Amino acid sequence: MLLRSLTIALVLCSITAHAEAPSPSSVQRSLLIRIDNVTRDALQKTGIFAFDDYDYRKFTTLVRDTALLVVTPAERALLAERGLASTLVMEDTSFVTLVRRAMYGPGMKLQEPYHAYPQIVRRGKELEARFPSLVEVIEIGRTSQKGQPIFAFVLSRDVRTRRDVPTVMIDGCQHSNELMGAEISLAAAEMLVTRYGSDPDVTSWVDGLRIVIVPVVNVDGHDVVTSGLDPRWRKNTRDTDGNAILNHPDGIDINRNYDFNWAGGGTGEPTSGRYRGPFPFSENEPRAIADLARAERFLLSISYHSQGEVIYYPWNWGGRPAPDDAVIAPLARALAGSIRTMKGDTSYRAEPGAGLVGQSYPWLYGTLGTFDLIVETGLGAAFFPPHEVQGIIDANMHGIRTMLRRATGPGIAVHVTDAASGRAIEATVWIPKIETEEVRRRTTHPATGTLYRFLTPGPHQVIISRPGYDTRVLTGITPPDSGWKRIEVTLTRTRH
Ligand SMILES: [Zn+2]
Repeated sequence: MLLRSLTIALVLCSITAHAEAPSPSSVQRSLLIRIDNVTRDALQKTGIFAFDDYDYRKFTTLVRDTALLVVTPAERALLAERGLASTLVMEDTSFVTLVRRAMYGPGMKLQEPYHAYPQIVRRGKELEARFPSLVEVIEIGRTSQKGQPIFAFVLSRDVRTRRDVPTVMIDGCQHSNELMGAEISLAAAEMLVTRYGSDPDVTSWVDGLRIVIVPVVNVDGHDVVTSGLDPRWRKNTRDTDGNAILNHPDGIDINRNYDFNWAGGGTGEPTSGRYRGPFPFSENEPRAIADLARAERFLLSISYHSQGEVIYYPWNWGGRPAPDDAVIAPLARALAGSIRTMKGDTSYRAEPGAGLVGQSYPWLYGTLGTFDLIVETGLGAAFFPPHEVQGIIDANMHGIRTMLRRATGPGIAVHVTDAASGRAIEATVWIPKIETEEVRRRTTHPATGTLYRFLTPGPHQVIISRPGYDTRVLTGITPPDSGWKRIEVTLTRTRH
């Protein structure tokens, strides 16, 4: 009995010693615990948990009011002391094993309704085979590490013919662990193709637009997550430490690698989850999106991420809004207002994202004039338990519908042709009162000769130019209340 008391005393001593150690976080985290009926505030007040998506040594999710945490025994004791009782889910010396159990469930594998990339591509190709005039599956590039094809599903009436219509993009999984992007993209493709001809809105969008869907940009990373290897994988799988093994902290954050304000975003530290890479566009995946965007000149696009139930739009650049803020901000708010939160009591919110960062939305807006919105789907985890997936998809289909409804204007469609040949040409369309030096000059599409551009009521001065041609200055340009005002411009070659 005496011996037993002594043992208990020793154990207590050792717990105390742990709790008082200068850096308890350096102790191996070996427990996966669940805390029910807890709030984010209550968890944060403990001081133990910062919700940090970028630190691979920490793990916390809080979906609705259930938290999953990987902790040390001392941290668990401290939580209990603060009134947060927990249930032990799993004990293991391997951190990634605990995270796999947390994210994949007892099967330790990704479950339905989530899709692996080959399933997503197969579904796209099935749609293409069934509806060849509406769907074309195209390869837009190859991944950086494994050279796998990255596919886009293009949806439009007479899809194989380049028509002069506005183009929009939907992309997902630039961050591979944010799986909802792939699922929402795939659901959007299914919805638009299968309801064509029966749903009047869908029919008018597929008839009047070219819709390009890239369900998974970060294909190599998506494989890591969907194969059950590591649910945390966010970056691509570039072997940055050169050891020929896929291990943390390998990889480059695709969504910090774009060449617009690259140096202002992410970090140059390779171990970070936001490593921007050695130089702008060092990675194939963002280059594939950029090449696609140059070829298509998107009017509007949505990039799906998780989490936060928030929409980021371009931009807040040192306190300055984007030159087109008067159009972009209301558009982002309309989209946000149409997407219900998981709790269902309110909708997503919209706020300007950083302009000084090498992400896709400042690149698309600053370089090509595309209004790109980041939609952070869901709340509390990078991806969600299987039973939550359909609800998040359904909520975001309303967002897709809002986006496509908005892709009909109002604005101007400037169509430029060569006066002698009558052929469409790429020309610069500049609105000096709006477009500051922070954004590159917008140009018409090289094949169709048209630039579709959202515009406030006006009147505006529009300057159309191309080297080797005379310059045209149009004044008093006012877009209609709805739809596109088509402006035909012919440029004449200057004599030398
Ligand atoms: Zn993301």
